Amino acid sequence: MKSKDLEKRLSDLSVQQVNDHLTRKDSEHACEACGTRDWRIHASELEGLVFLELPIFGMGGIGVPYCFLPLFCGNCGNTRLISANMMLDEIDEHEASSQD
Ligand SMILES: [Zn+2]
Repeated sequence: MKSKDLEKRLSDLSVQQVNDHLTRKDSEHACEACGTRDWRIHASELEGLVFLELPIFGMGGIGVPYCFLPLFCGNCGNTRLISANMMLDEIDEHEASSQD
């Protein structure tokens, strides 16, 4: 199970914050499979953003999930997994530094 803290931080994220993060990190560069730049995330007004939890093996972490934002290529379906923790940390740092 992911921590309550992570769950709360993810549910508080807006689509705009995520899109701005993806732009800052150039996460939407051309698809390695088909060369287009038609990247999509799944989000709805009611349910918010869609994240994935994937269980890991090793490092004492059997059964501990990693959490990712799936970024789908709208042309071929190739999917990039963006670390939710790294994304949250970068957004926090970016927003803290923009308030200075
Ligand atoms: Zn593609």
